[in-house]
Amino acid sequence: MSAIPKPQPGILDISAYVPGKSSAPAGVRLHKLSSNESPLGPSPAAMAAYGKQAVNLHLYPDGAASKLRDAIAARYGLNADRIVCGAGSDELLELLARAYLGAGDEAVYTQYGFLVYPIAIKASGATPVVAMEVDNTANVDEIIKVLSPRTRMVFLANPNNPTGTYLPFDEVRRLHAELSPDCLLVLDAAYAEYVKRNDYEAGVELVGTMDNVVMTRTFSKAYALAGLRLGWAYCPAHVADVLNRIRGPFNVSLPAIAAGVAAVEDSAHLERTVQHNETWLPRVAEDIARLGLKVTPSVGNFVLISFDSPATAGAADAFLNSRGLVLRQVAAYGLANALRMSIGTEEANVAAVAALKDFLGQAG
Ligand SMILES: *Cc1c(COP(=O)(O)O)cnc(C)c1O
Repeated sequence: MSAIPKPQPGILDISAYVPGKSSAPAGVRLHKLSSNESPLGPSPAAMAAYGKQAVNLHLYPDGAASKLRDAIAARYGLNADRIVCGAGSDELLELLARAYLGAGDEAVYTQYGFLVYPIAIKASGATPVVAMEVDNTANVDEIIKVLSPRTRMVFLANPNNPTGTYLPFDEVRRLHAELSPDCLLVLDAAYAEYVKRNDYEAGVELVGTMDNVVMTRTFSKAYALAGLRLGWAYCPAHVADVLNRIRGPFNVSLPAIAAGVAAVEDSAHLERTVQHNETWLPRVAEDIARLGLKVTPSVGNFVLISFDSPATAGAADAFLNSRGLVLRQVAAYGLANALRMSIGTEEANVAAVAALKDFLGQAG
């Protein structure tokens, strides 16, 4: 028997992340509502800045991404030295797991938490531990229940994808108070720009005052630069130092730095994007609820729609697909009876509600 190269323990336990679909039948206009992308597209200034870098592609980027960190720091009132940029926040989540987790360690995430967490945990050789949710929402008491002396990291998506629910900041603080000082709390605030609640805070205050809290952010969602792969983490100085040691020396590309700076400085475009969501999120949620479907209350740019069975969810998905409406099946999250729908353009939103109505009329 010839031996073959073997990956590290944990790797073969990983179910690879399956991205949202993006195809429609021939001749049907495609509305991709499966990946929480922005219907308004990127800032025109960001697109121009990206294009201008075409003639510079032979040059390595600034490995420290200094201009981008400065622009983020200025926009959000942060210390640039504690910001680390990455190729999407996914890269930062993986780097955090690689740096702080190993065999014998446990890392906690919640029942319907973002699937990148178990991938990152298993890839580091650590053991994923799932905390139950209540009403499709992370629950601090349930997280506390599963903490052990081996817990080295807690991932909390706030708000969470695919549920859209969030924890008020008092609850995040209460969770943090229960963690051992050597357990890192990772607050994934990918949708923070969309959240308009007085009791919500993305994590800046905790990161600023505690040694064991990191906040990750992304340019993929409200900034509409998902294709560029750009994210950032706000960290205690000692964590930033660790991430800077293990990240690729040029992990953020030249055009990504340029576009990111322009995007973060174009607050008017961000405001239009958030306003569009403010207008359509409640309308879509109400219209779908009025059809008799359960819609989980969301503060993100998407809604989780529950059907009476996995079969109905699958049939609804196929029906919507035939009309060019591509939603996201979320069975991999243990939500086989649900579909996730990103808030789209007016045309897409109206078409999706109409298609769901027709589907239910036909099924009933
Ligand atoms: C989309 C998303 C991200 C962002 O991933 P990127 O790698 O930055 O594109 C992170 N966390 C959650 C919960 C998300 O839904």
